[in-house]
Amino acid sequence: MNSGLLFCDLAVAGVRGLSPYQPGKPIEELERELGITGIVKLASNENPLGASPRALEAAAAAMSETHRYPDGSGFLLKQALSAHHQVAPEQITLGNGSNDLLDVLARVFLEPGREAVVSQYAFAIYALSTQAVGAQCVTVPALGPDSDMPYGHDLEAMADAITERTAIVFVANPNNPTGTWLTQAQLERFLDRVPRRVVVVLDEAYTEYARDLACPDGTQWLARYPNLVVTRTFSKAYGLAGLRVGYSLSSPEIADLLNRVRHPFNVNSLALAAAEAALDDCAHIEQSVALNAREMKRLCAAFDAAGLKWLPSAGNFISVEIGNAAAAYQALLRRGVIVRPMAGYGLPSYLRVSVGLAEENSRFLIALDEYLEEAR
Ligand SMILES: *Cc1c(COP(=O)(O)O)cnc(C)c1O
Repeated sequence: MNSGLLFCDLAVAGVRGLSPYQPGKPIEELERELGITGIVKLASNENPLGASPRALEAAAAAMSETHRYPDGSGFLLKQALSAHHQVAPEQITLGNGSNDLLDVLARVFLEPGREAVVSQYAFAIYALSTQAVGAQCVTVPALGPDSDMPYGHDLEAMADAITERTAIVFVANPNNPTGTWLTQAQLERFLDRVPRRVVVVLDEAYTEYARDLACPDGTQWLARYPNLVVTRTFSKAYGLAGLRVGYSLSSPEIADLLNRVRHPFNVNSLALAAAEAALDDCAHIEQSVALNAREMKRLCAAFDAAGLKWLPSAGNFISVEIGNAAAAYQALLRRGVIVRPMAGYGLPSYLRVSVGLAEENSRFLIALDEYLEEAR
């Protein structure tokens, strides 16, 4: 059927130039393609231990009410988050994953003629959400490969890039896909430099993993900087990626604006119940963080032994330099191991590997060894 219309020309300008986000390859897809099972996925920074059993119980219990709309205000989860973070419920906005909130923030503060400032190698969604609403994404060169924090955000340069058109600065701490992080002093200096009319979005998707590395908790600055928005997620350390729930903490004024734009029932009832229970299970988070630290060390040691360069990471993933990463990615896929190539981020020689269970990491390391042997 050919209507004679080029629908691409009909799309709004921001959308015409977009390339869709490339997610990690789903296990089922590789199963279909290769006809094999027992695949190891280390591609989306999920918690390999899964969710807290308490969260799963809560979600299961909520199943019986799925014919009802969820509580659109998320009252109970907000109460729990309010106690957890010592902020008022009015400062909390729930999202269908924190991704949803990044998008809502762009819709609230950006439009054609306005700019968002991001770092090179920053999480891809910032640019996507910015461009989708027709605003300009200003990408600031990252720190060099030989700096103290290779490929990290250059906060001084980002502050310098702010103009009268800038409405948002997106900062990921730690950043994905590089794993780089910013210190208390660096962020404080940055927040001091940013004009109050510019919203600083501090994305702390991996913050639970980063505590031991002197990576600060951004919520401490909410009272001091009313232009600060901290985003968090239940997708990573909390192990609820499939349920889609995240949140932002901000001034009540900004939360009110976000609330005008978000979909009325953007967080489903299973996710609300699971997140509330997950927040309560500190032991599960501690266990998850400890496993990550242990296995991260093992991966780094194995990379060192193989003579591979890697980027220090404060998250639950690590980027390793491997020459032809596209070839390595394919070779690992054939061996049933899914990782993430970083060419889309402008780092074509790097693979990003999520830290899995010990046996999953071993599978990856064996497959990697075989590939290196073969490529030699
Ligand atoms: C995974 C991730 C997110 C958000 O994921 P959601 O599942 O939408 O909460 C946000 N920021 C970064 C940097 C991430 O890596």
